[in-house]
Amino acid sequence: MNKKKNIVLRPPIKTKYVYEKLRCCKNCHNYTALREEKCTTCGKPALTSVQELAHKAAKRSLSSDLLLVLLLTLIAVVFSPTFQLIAISAASGIAMITLLLVVQRKALASRTSIELSKMFVRDRERITSGLVRNLEIAAAQENEARSYELMREVAVLIRNDHIRKVQILLLQSLVLRKDMDLELEPLLLADFDPELAAYIGELAKIKRELIKDRTFQYVIKYEQKIAAMEHGDDILAGVAGAAVRMKRYVLAYASFLARYARKLPKDRFLRLYRIVTENPDLNWGALKAEAARIYEEKYQWDADFQQIKPRSDIHDV
Ligand SMILES: [Zn+2]
Repeated sequence: MNKKKNIVLRPPIKTKYVYEKLRCCKNCHNYTALREEKCTTCGKPALTSVQELAHKAAKRSLSSDLLLVLLLTLIAVVFSPTFQLIAISAASGIAMITLLLVVQRKALASRTSIELSKMFVRDRERITSGLVRNLEIAAAQENEARSYELMREVAVLIRNDHIRKVQILLLQSLVLRKDMDLELEPLLLADFDPELAAYIGELAKIKRELIKDRTFQYVIKYEQKIAAMEHGDDILAGVAGAAVRMKRYVLAYASFLARYARKLPKDRFLRLYRIVTENPDLNWGALKAEAARIYEEKYQWDADFQQIKPRSDIHDV
């Protein structure tokens, strides 16, 4: 990865449920998670959303229940020996059908989800091979940003470290910007990966709100390996800077912060110092002494630090 490309990344297509991304070809029964107009296998414009197919299947199975009741009513009427019994059979048949119609109207939604899960079980292999084909299409794109976008659509449905690694490599080949719709937690790997560490380091600069518990835990787990990277210390300091966003993070990762507090830029250290000083009763461990030491050495004459006082001194509660 020598030269990074400056390319616009489009936001992902959001759906309420991940399966809503899936479409099935009515002609050849192949599945896809991409937004193509025509089926890439048979070339026909026959792609239909899985919900629509399930909805139709649900309607079909409900109407066959209705037909059965109708048939039973007819049989009852035909074989009734007296006029009175015919009337009773017909009336109860009509009552049954009306009741069934009312119940069915309410049952359609749950029947649709049953059909949907049946479809996923039955077509599991077809869906998998469709997604593998989608990944091949994504990988064959000449533009890394398009390739990443397509892969992101598929990665919502199949999560594995191989796809994550390819996504991270693609992202690392682009110039990342604050306004891009980036993600981090879905890309976290189980093992150490220097490209992922570098990506975390970049996010710490442009989108630190994406750095949350799972990322802190990943970074702390592989702290030594990150420290051994070329700009590893910058990555670790950047992540420490992201942790001072919330008191909860500072408390949970206090010993990690104690190791990197010295490398924090002034605005980040000011925030850290304020959190620790204003909450003197919390268990900060080594961080408390380290923050005090850095304050003494670098900031004790700094006007921005003068307002910070322990909270219990201000409000005696
Ligand atoms: Zn097709």
